[in-house]
Parts: sequence; structure tokens; C-alpha cells
Amino acid sequence: MSAFPVTRLRRLRSSAPLRGLVRETRLDLDAFVMPLFVAAATERNEELPPLGRLSVDDLVEEARGLVRLGVSAVLLFGIPEAKDDEGSGAWDDDGIVQRALRALKTELPELLLITDVCLCEYTAHGHCGVIRDGEVQNDETLDLLTRTAVSHVEAGADVVAPSDMMDGRIALVREALPQTPIIAYSAKYASAFYGPFREAAESAPAFGDRRGYQMDPANVREALRECEQDVAEGADVLMIKPALPYLDVLRAARERFDLPLGAYNVSGEYAMVKAAAAKGFLDERAAAIESLTAIKRAGADLVVSYWTKELASWL
Ligand SMILES: [Zn+2]
Repeated sequence: MSAFPVTRLRRLRSSAPLRGLVRETRLDLDAFVMPLFVAAATERNEELPPLGRLSVDDLVEEARGLVRLGVSAVLLFGIPEAKDDEGSGAWDDDGIVQRALRALKTELPELLLITDVCLCEYTAHGHCGVIRDGEVQNDETLDLLTRTAVSHVEAGADVVAPSDMMDGRIALVREALPQTPIIAYSAKYASAFYGPFREAAESAPAFGDRRGYQMDPANVREALRECEQDVAEGADVLMIKPALPYLDVLRAARERFDLPLGAYNVSGEYAMVKAAAAKGFLDERAAAIESLTAIKRAGADLVVSYWTKELASWL
């Protein structure tokens, strides 16, 4: 390898076309998924518009706009009108997500419909599983999650994404849905970056926290074990959530596994940049594109991001 003065790395940075030719990571809208929240009635969020809730009719209109902009996939979260201890609204054939799926499938058959499979938006206590003696019960929850995934697919979901972090759930969903692609939230951390989402999804736990099932932010080897389990149980895509504080986890998973990798650029990551931009501290577009590029560079194939809609107009 030659050194300076023969080697001058600045030569390839001297113009925009030259930088374009040698760019290693590119943002392509095809790799982005827009999260959407559906509820009985629309409740706009003025400060963080993608974290507002939409009625089924408004959701269809929003999705129509996204398709027009070139967005090809959405991830649906539902907020039911009534909650109970088991979260039975999650697998109700006439539930909010099921109704949204039928409407979207009819109106926009070209749009890929991914659903979040979990119970926390549907349980009165806000936890992701059945509670007994103050503890989230793993094995009792699996059947409810599987019923939820099946009912989503029956209503029109193309892909299901279990996000609960119970052990063994991918195996049961896989057995029930042999033909359906599964995006496993394999390494979902008990993160402080979910704040705006919890308000939108109304899923903050009424007591305790999620550290008994979501991962400890300090661990990366454990994330690889979670991924390994999900591969063995039949996942098609492995997802890491959040994204920006966990780029090393994405990189480690990229090096270990050949499955497509997803990253969830969560609401807190989005809100931080929005808030800083609103104060004039950052340029939102530049900071967003740099953040999303970093997530791709770390190894993500697909990215769930609240910037997907804005990205469509920026690209
Ligand atoms: Zn949950």
C-alpha cells in the first residue's frame, strides 16, 4: 500500500459527481417502512405528525398519499376502543387493525402490509403478555400472540412482526403460518427512546417496566443469541430496535447472520432531531439523512422509520 504523497484520499472527494460514484451506502425508498397508528377516531399530533392516530378512513387516505410518493410498505399498530386483561382486542376479527387491513387491502392492493404483533396496546395493564402473580407469563402468552398473528393474516396482512420478546413465539407463529414472512423483533431493548410511541400507542405499562422481557441495553452477545433462536424458529428477517444507539448490535448481527436485517429507527430518535431542529440547533433533513445512512451502513437492509414519508419527498 502506497502512502502520502502518492496516496491522497481527498482526490475522490473533489466533486459531487465523483463522490457519488464512490459512495458506499445509498438510501433507496424501497428499503423503508412507514409506521402508522390506527384508532377509532383520528387524533392528530401537531409536533410529531407521524405519531398521530388515524381512523380507518383517514388511514386509507394517508396510505394513498404514501403510495403516491413511492412508499411501498407500512407497519400497522392498533389502538382499540376497549382494553382487557388478556388483550382480546388483538385477535378480534372485527378489531381495529383487522378492519384497517381489510380496507387497505381493498383500496391499495399494491401496498405491502406489515403488522406489529403484540398485546401491549390491547391489555388494560399495558404489558406485552398475560399477567399472573404480578409477572408476565411467557408460555401462556404464546397462544394469544399466535391467534393475533393468524387473525392479521386472515384480514389481509402480508407480513407479521412479533414484537413482544416472549421466548418461543416465532416457532408458534411459524407453525401456524407456514407461508407468511415473519419479521422478528429479535433484539428489542428495554429502551428510554420509546416515549412518543408509547403515547401514540397508549401502551405504557400501568405498573413496573418491561425489563423482565425486553433486553438489557448493555448486552450485545445476548442479542446474537436472541437472533440465533429466531433463525432456528423460522424467522425470515431479524430486527434490532432501537437503531441509532444500537448500531454495534446491527453490525454484529450483520457479520453473524445471512438473513435480511431490519432496524427500527424509533420515535425517540426521530423526536430528538425534530426538537433540535425546531430550536434551530440542527438541520432536520441533513441530520435525518445522515442518521438513516448510518443505520444502513451499520448493516440494515430495511429500516422502519417515522421519516419514511419525508424521505420520499427528499429523495
Ligand atoms: Zn408489546
